[in-house]
Parts: sequence; structure tokens; C-alpha cells
Amino acid sequence: STPRRPRRLVGPGRTADGVRIPLLANLDTLEEVEHAVAAGAEGVGLLRTELLFLHRGTEPGVAEQAATYLAIADRFPGRPVVIRTLDIGADKQVPYLPELEEPNPALGLRGLRLAREVRPELLDRQLEAIGRAAARTEADLRVMAPMVAVPEEAAWFAARARAYGLRTVGVMVEVPAAALAAGRLLREVDFVSIGTNDLAQYAFAAERTSGRLARLNDPWQPALLELIRLVGEAGTAAGRPVGVCGEAAADPALAAVLVGLGATSLSMAPAVLPEVGDLLARVTLDQCRAAAEAARAAADPQEARARASAVLGLGP
Ligand code: PEP
Ligand code: MG
Repeated sequence: STPRRPRRLVGPGRTADGVRIPLLANLDTLEEVEHAVAAGAEGVGLLRTELLFLHRGTEPGVAEQAATYLAIADRFPGRPVVIRTLDIGADKQVPYLPELEEPNPALGLRGLRLAREVRPELLDRQLEAIGRAAARTEADLRVMAPMVAVPEEAAWFAARARAYGLRTVGVMVEVPAAALAAGRLLREVDFVSIGTNDLAQYAFAAERTSGRLARLNDPWQPALLELIRLVGEAGTAAGRPVGVCGEAAADPALAAVLVGLGATSLSMAPAVLPEVGDLLARVTLDQCRAAAEAARAAADPQEARARASAVLGLGP
């Protein structure tokens, strides 16, 4: 018989030997907010604010944005809620941003680049709204930027965010150059969060939605784990948090490997939180580290998964 899956986190995320790993939710629709609360999420690791900007003819105003951010944050009092600034471009287009129509949009004005190169006022309006919500909520509201490639962009973003009163500022690591420069990024910001979906896409030069390239975009690819390790080590050296908010965190065995590579929190779709919490509670930090070592040294994703699973005492 198949074991019944837990529906809700039984307690805060921690390893068998008591190392705290907050288990947070990724939110890409407003409906997911209630799912996250019901699943016992310890906060929000990634609010994809595109949910407010897509499927409409005009940009949402500051007041509307602030009200939405506040309503979401207020569901998590005393908890971290990480709001990611707009990550539009690539596959996500809106009529009020015509400059995003580019021949190679995944390598174009995506994420922070849109603000940095052509529309800083769009980011300013969003930061003003997030700042207003932060001033009113009891959640620990944080802000982070997507698609950062170099430390200068992190510094530019952090200065702008702090000008709106935001105290905890981070950036996503989802471009290989950012992973390689993680130590320098962490001099500019308070935390980083690894986006494994784009980090894999850009590391393997393989479109993330292409089913035909799924073997390359496999989150168990040892080269991807190596990039993640660099970020984890930089975070440990700097004494700063390293989250993971890409889909890799949703695979329980891989979640343990990510902890072994230095992740200090994991964020995922609410539905998978209980499973990941369940597995983490059964393994020690040393086991996570040994699983990470075994996976990183593997020749391919299959071997990485098999070796890590063996170390973690899981079936293949
Ligand atoms: C990622 O790239 O892994 C990520 C979390 O961001 P998104 O999936 O929204 O691009
Ligand atoms: Mg991304």
C-alpha cells in the first residue's frame, strides 16, 4: 500500500539533529496564499508579483499594489515574506511594456534589467508599494530582485530598495555569473535566493519549458549542484542566508542535498511542503552534507540521485 502523504507540515522545518531550515511557500497566484497557510508554510520565500501585472491592459497603481502586498503579508504575521520585484519578459508579455518584444527575450530585458535599462520608474512605484506594506504589516517583509547577473546590479537595486525604507534586501541567483560572484553579491545585499529553474536554463543553454531538453534541465545535474555549492559556501563565509526557491527544492531528496550544499531555507509550491518537511526531519545535517558530496561527484543526474538517495537511506 502507498503511504498516505501528510497534508500539512507537522512542525517547523528542521533536520533530525535539530538544524532549523524554514520551509516557505512560492506563490504565483492569489489562490496559493490560502494553500500556503493551510499547508503550514513558515512564510513566503517567493511572491511572484507578476500575478498582479499580467493579464491586464495597464500597470497596477501603487495603492492597488500596496493593498495586495499587505493582504498577503498579513496572512503571515511574524514570518518572513519575500516579495520579488517584477520578473516580466521572456515568455511573459504585457501590452503596456512594448520594449519587451525582443528577438531573444530570455537573454533580453528580463527582470531587473527592464528597470535598470529602460523603466526605473516602474521599479520605483513597486518599491514604494512594498515599502508601504512593510510599514503596516506584522510580517517580516523582505524584497528581492530577479535576474541579477553582476554585483553592480545588486548594489543598484539595494540602494533603491533602501530608499523606500525596505530593510532586508536580497537578490536571486539564477544567472551562472551571479553564482560565480555570490561572495561579492553578498557584500551588497542581506540574502540571496537561488532560482534553480533559470540557473539550470542558463547554465545548460537549454530553454526551461522545452520537454525535449528536460534531460539537460534536470535539477540533479552535477554541474548545477556545483554552482549551488558555490553560493552555499559564499553564504556560509559571509554569515548570510541562502534560500532556494526554484523547483529543485520540491524534490525531497534534492531538498536534503540543497541543505547539504549550504541552503538555509527552502521555498516551494505549498502542496509539496509536507513531504519535504517529513524527509528533512528524518536526516541529519551530516547526512545532507554526505548526500551533497555524493551527488556532486556523480557523472550524471541519475547517478547523483541514486548516490544521494543511498546516503539518505531512501529507495532509488
Ligand atoms: C527560478 O528561476 O528558479 C525561479 C524561482 O524564478 P521563476 O521560476 O519565477 O523564473
Ligand atoms: Mg527565475
